[in-house]
Amino acid sequence: MDNRLDLDGKPIKPITICMIGAGGFIGSHLCEKLMTETPHTVLAVDVYNDKIKHLLEQPAAGQPHLWVGRIQFHRLNIKNDSRLESLIKMSDLTINLAAICTPADYNTRPLDTIYSNFIDALPVVRYCSENSKRLIHFSTCEVYGKTIGSFLPKDHPLRKEPDFYVLKEDESPCIFGPIEKQRWSYACAKQLIERLVFAEGAENGLDFTIVRPFNWIGPRMDFIPGVDGPSEGVPRVLACFSNNLLRREPLKLVDGGQSQRTFVYIKDAIEAVLLMIVCLYFLSRSTNFCLWHTLRLMFLQENPDRANGHIFNVGNPDNEVTVRQLAEIMTEVYSKVTGEPPLEVPTIDISSEVFYGEGYDDSDKRIPDMTIINRQLGWNPKTSLHDLLDSTLTYQHKTYAEAIRKEQKKHYLI
Ligand code: NAD
Ligand code: UDP
Repeated sequence: MDNRLDLDGKPIKPITICMIGAGGFIGSHLCEKLMTETPHTVLAVDVYNDKIKHLLEQPAAGQPHLWVGRIQFHRLNIKNDSRLESLIKMSDLTINLAAICTPADYNTRPLDTIYSNFIDALPVVRYCSENSKRLIHFSTCEVYGKTIGSFLPKDHPLRKEPDFYVLKEDESPCIFGPIEKQRWSYACAKQLIERLVFAEGAENGLDFTIVRPFNWIGPRMDFIPGVDGPSEGVPRVLACFSNNLLRREPLKLVDGGQSQRTFVYIKDAIEAVLLMIVCLYFLSRSTNFCLWHTLRLMFLQENPDRANGHIFNVGNPDNEVTVRQLAEIMTEVYSKVTGEPPLEVPTIDISSEVFYGEGYDDSDKRIPDMTIINRQLGWNPKTSLHDLLDSTLTYQHKTYAEAIRKEQKKHYLI
């Protein structure tokens, strides 16, 4: 927090950030990062605040908190709250994370999904554009849909060619399934809001950055059904598999777990987001001295607006696994961190129709091309899949194991 300098070596000017969806998984990590490593103020907008409570509570007597007065929570639903515009007007930068973004909802609640990801985001874009405020909008890697290679026969040699599967921001097409496959309602809504943001930039000069996260995972992601979320709820795969491991039940592999994903550690990904904020305003010396120094030299010679007008893939191409492999690694790591023996039957197959219902479909493979983020921000992920699962499953066990033990004991007694 000390030694904060701008690109010319002068003390930096703190800014105010309106963060919509600040109470969610990514928002909670981003708030933490901004509070501990920058002097900025955050107007945290969400309908929930459980995941950022530790930042909002008054410090215990005698304990200084670096961020006292720098984070304010505003409980509001952006669907229907007129306070939104004034919060955006009060801020220098708006970051929009608010969304319905759990695949189990895309085909079962397609209207809510489309409204949340497109209609509800419209006023945010409009207020930013009309008030000349910078916008960082969170989209998704799902806008790429399926790979070109997925349409070739399984053993076709071209499937191994990067051109047929690597996803590039400025080249790859967006390939979705038919309308009946309502899984794509989310991707389609996200694509249209991306196009709108891009067009506002082109026609009205909106300063924007679009982020396409590729399966960011880590502590505080989603919920554990029956503990801090609905018993029948279906979160994303990390929480589904954590829930199975905590309850000592087999991990469910949808359609055989053949789909491939690349997973990036939330703490690595947040570094990338910080660079998108930082490069316009300041470089924090506390982030990482070598990186700071390299970037500072680079920025002294070049235009500092390196994140503006760009769409960024943010993922870790080195952490690719099939969902089946993910289940196997999580089973092994969970057993190591808890000392519990692995299950005799660690996985079972389940059809997508039974697990998600009608209208589900899947992305086959997601390898992010890293050229643009590398060139513009000099960012690279660091954490291996094994290491990120080690720390995440240690957290899951510490946070939830006791609550689940109590719940199971109660059921047993009934
Ligand atoms: P999350 O569900 O944990 O967070 C979203 C937050 O937005 C929640 O706290 C929710 O309460 C809030 N929100 C939703 N609608 C709102 C409304 N109308 N008014 C106020 N608050 C509202 O999800 P996340 O993983 O943190 O994702 C954040 C963003 O990143 C989303 O836009 C998502 O589509 C995108 N994304 C994330 C990933 C990932 O790997 N985590 C992958 C692709 C895209
Ligand atoms: N999946 C699975 N079992 C589960 C939950 C998810 O096999 O209990 C699969 C899902 O079908 C998809 C992948 O895991 O192929 C990743 O799912 P996630 O919900 O994390 O979201 P996505 O990456 O599809 O956006």
